[in-house]
Amino acid sequence: MLKDQLKAAGVRLTPQRLAIVDVLEGNTEHPSAEALFRAVKKRYPTMSFATVYNTLEALKKADCVRELKIDSTRRRFDPNTVPHHHLFCCSCGKIVDIHVEYRLDLPRAISAAFEVAGNHVEFFGNCRRCSDQGVRAARQPGSGHAVIEHN
Ligand SMILES: [Zn+2]
Ligand SMILES: [Zn+2]
Repeated sequence: MLKDQLKAAGVRLTPQRLAIVDVLEGNTEHPSAEALFRAVKKRYPTMSFATVYNTLEALKKADCVRELKIDSTRRRFDPNTVPHHHLFCCSCGKIVDIHVEYRLDLPRAISAAFEVAGNHVEFFGNCRRCSDQGVRAARQPGSGHAVIEHN
C-alpha cells in the first residue's frame, strides 16, 4: 500500500495528502499533475494545485512514485514503482504498462565502464483507437525517438 510505504519513508500524511494518495493508489493511467489535480478536486473541492504538486514531489523523493518523461508535453506519474516498460500513444497520450523483461545487452566496452542499475524501454506509436480513427503517429517534437508509423 502506498500509504504504508509513505509512513515508512517518514512522509507526513495530512488529510489532503491522503486524498491524493487515494486517487494514485493502483492508478494505471499515469496521470500528469494536472490530471491528478482535476480528479482529486472532484472529491476535495478545496484542494490546491500546489498541494498536489508538493505531494508528488514528496512521493517521488520517498521513491513511492516514479516520474515518467515519455510524454514530452508534460511529466507523468506512476505509483507502480516495480520496474516495467511503457507504450505511449503519440496521438492521445495514453500510456500502457508492459510487464516483460527485455534482455538488453550493452557492448562490452560500455558495460565494463558503467554499472547499469536498470533500464526503461519506451514504445511510441498509436493506440488501436487512434489508428482506427486514421491518426498517423507523429514523431514527438524534440524527443529524438523513432516512432513507428502506421498506414
Ligand atoms: Zn491513442
Ligand atoms: Zn507504468
